[in-house]
Amino acid sequence: MPWESVIGLEVHVQLRTDSKIFSGASTAFGAKPNVQACEVDIALPGVLPVMNRTAALMAVRFGLATGATVNRISVFARKNYFYPDLPKGYQISQYELPIVAGGQIEINTDDCRKKIGITRAHLEEDAGKLLHQEFEGRSGIDLNRAGIPLLEVVSEPDLRSPAEAVAYLKKLHTLVRYLEICDGNMQEGSFRCDANVSVRPAGETGLGTRCELKNLNSFRFIEKGLQFEIKRQIQLIEDGGQVAQETRLYDPDADLTRPMRGKEEAHDYRYFPDPDLPPLVVDDELLAAARSALPELPDARCHRFSSTYQVSQKDAELLTSDRELADYFEQTAAACGDSRSAANWITGEWMGCLNRDGLRFEESRVTPQMLGDLIAKINDNSISGKIAKEVFDGMWNGEGNASEIIAARNLEQITDADEIERAIDHVIDNCAEQVMQYRSGQEKVFGFLVGQVMQATGGKANPKMVNKILRNKLSGKRHN
Ligand code: ADP
Ligand code: MG
Repeated sequence: MPWESVIGLEVHVQLRTDSKIFSGASTAFGAKPNVQACEVDIALPGVLPVMNRTAALMAVRFGLATGATVNRISVFARKNYFYPDLPKGYQISQYELPIVAGGQIEINTDDCRKKIGITRAHLEEDAGKLLHQEFEGRSGIDLNRAGIPLLEVVSEPDLRSPAEAVAYLKKLHTLVRYLEICDGNMQEGSFRCDANVSVRPAGETGLGTRCELKNLNSFRFIEKGLQFEIKRQIQLIEDGGQVAQETRLYDPDADLTRPMRGKEEAHDYRYFPDPDLPPLVVDDELLAAARSALPELPDARCHRFSSTYQVSQKDAELLTSDRELADYFEQTAAACGDSRSAANWITGEWMGCLNRDGLRFEESRVTPQMLGDLIAKINDNSISGKIAKEVFDGMWNGEGNASEIIAARNLEQITDADEIERAIDHVIDNCAEQVMQYRSGQEKVFGFLVGQVMQATGGKANPKMVNKILRNKLSGKRHN
């Protein structure tokens, strides 16, 4: 029987505010444990939370960017549960009335383009963190993370495969970084995903029983965890069993999921409106501020790239997947006036080097102006494409800009016909046998002879001229 998988994602987007959602403590990453936890974060008696307006502004910006409804009034609720990383005994979240509801995100996979519904996006505070490694036989609690603002983005169960789930997540990741509401750093936990997944016979419209997967802290793990879980559920049902609704943990080393706990229901949490906080009001001023801060969004930018620059749809998508990358491309294209070459160099050489050295876009030593100048030098025949790679490596290693490296290493392309002719004569004298072969009709020997000339000129001869002059010479003509 053919099966279909159904996936819905809950993503915790850590908002990039300077201070916490209900207190003035810093949100900076990497501080020593508990130095950024104030009275409110550690839940001393008598303290009161005060809502951070910037967190609300960021949530509204997200709502506008996804075509969602921004609720002018939303309500904070207490989600009650006991865990040592939660000193209050409840988490302040939003339940019945979230700040954002009903948006969508368009994804593009190899087989299709489709819109994924966003059920809601609500504001909440993060919990602290338990530290197990540092202490022998005991656990430590770091409350620096307690109270950091999160926007929890909940999708509809619209995703049908692990690949779609990853496409959605990448799109969401791109979007929150464009909006500058989240740094997107998955290693530091700024963008975390729980995946709900069930299976059903293809064609069925009702939903199967789902499991929720946790500990998916990279795009790769999300894909692998889902793949495993889908197989497990299908196998279980085909063997006559039933899927139990539960929370499972993905183990990347063993590449499998394990049960963690039974799934709690909403009523287990005893949600109720938090009496310490007034309803959150999105007034006209806040809405206008959120609207004015909206950048050109990824979809619009992608569309503009593929219609105004000479780049493929695929390159346009890649180049607009990150705001800094898209800026880098536009600046490079402007510097050389050749958008196609700019796209090729950026998606090829430049991104390859960044990857190899583990650098972020903004850490590149080769500026858009430098790369643009290099491309211009290829286009005006100052250097060949091959030499350009050498010059690029020099720029990457900090030897200066293209002109400086070309001068210092004497790499200027040879376009002087006489000089090229001398090199060709030399090769013809030394390769009498190959010349004879070519003249007797063995066309493929021509490539060898071109290679000899290029070698003789240290790779600097203009390849087009070498081809033309060599061909003429071999057929007994003069080049001019
Ligand atoms: P909670 O996990 O807090 O109980 P919800 O019931 O709102 O929350 O669902 C959370 C996520 O699970 C949503 O993204 C939703 O799309 C997804 N989901 C719900 N039911 C299913 C199902 N049967 N199969 C797959 N995903 C589901
Ligand atoms: Mg959940």
